[in-house]
Amino acid sequence: MNEVDILVIGAGPAGLAAAGYAARAGYTVMAIDQLAPGGQLLLIDEIENYPGVPLTKGFKLAEEFERQAVDFGVRIEYSGAKSIKKDGDVFVVTTEDGDVRAKAVIAATGATHRHLGAKGEEEYAGRGVSYCATCDGPFFRGKKIVVVGGGDTALTDALYLAKLSDDVTIVHRRDEFRGQKVLSDRVRNNANISLKLGRNVVEIVSDDGRKVSSVLLDNGEKLDTDAVFIFVGIRPNSSLFEGFCELDPSGFIVTDEKMRTDVPGLFAAGDVRTTSFRQVATAAGDGAMAAHMADSYISGMGK
Ligand code: NAP
Repeated sequence: MNEVDILVIGAGPAGLAAAGYAARAGYTVMAIDQLAPGGQLLLIDEIENYPGVPLTKGFKLAEEFERQAVDFGVRIEYSGAKSIKKDGDVFVVTTEDGDVRAKAVIAATGATHRHLGAKGEEEYAGRGVSYCATCDGPFFRGKKIVVVGGGDTALTDALYLAKLSDDVTIVHRRDEFRGQKVLSDRVRNNANISLKLGRNVVEIVSDDGRKVSSVLLDNGEKLDTDAVFIFVGIRPNSSLFEGFCELDPSGFIVTDEKMRTDVPGLFAAGDVRTTSFRQVATAAGDGAMAAHMADSYISGMGK
């Protein structure tokens, strides 16, 4: 049984920022994650808009987040949280490695990609269908690539893939992109990227039954391709908190502007919470606020 002041669940930018702030304020802090620290930073090739840090690699910024948190005294454990409950004023989180008791908990479990639901998507996952450009893009260097989606992820990752291939096609269901204008301008001006707008991918096809060879669009058009990268949004990693705190209809954790959930002592930060803008900078800001409010909460306990 571990006992800490503050348990942070998830070690992406929000979790590491929260943990670092809390440890620096003098609390004992454990941050747990099933994966390597860094969260979605590990899936980003380059990041250019984290304030104060010029263009850098996602994994490098992740290393800096981790190093700083550890320097502040955060204990990072590789473990998944399986359940959460309250025992009086104390939270008890059961992890793969036993129970952790904490006075306050910060949920920073992030979000993961959604699936498109097209025929052939599940069947050819890992055989041409991918959800991670930096992980799988290099396998398709010089090959034909289709990107599905029109948000920041689709645009950012299409730009990354266009460095590996001169034949990238974005298929997006509307004529306008949802993503930031600066990114859509870059995409539209990139000679390696073609656009198929107002179209849906209805099927991912394989000629040999082993790997992707084309996609079928909703107008009957067939696009030959070696790979399909699907970026159609995110879903929150919030199943741990179902029935424990309020979630919105899409499953994101509901907080106020101070990162407080409807459970006293439970805070949420970053992509897992209901918010209108999801950036590394906003996740880190959420983490700082969550740590500050956890500090206020613990300071007020017993008063
Ligand atoms: P998103 O912003 O929700 O965009 C999802 C895209 O997928 C939308 O264009 C949507 O189309 C499309 N889509 C959804 N369901 C679809 C379906 N069934 N069939 C076809 N298309 C479908 O998701 P995201 O791009 O993953 O971004 C998630 C969050 O992370 C956002 O807040 C984003 O700003 C942030 N982010 C920021 C950066 C950055 O700053 N560089 C990078 C990555 C992500 P519609 O537009 O028609 O709805």
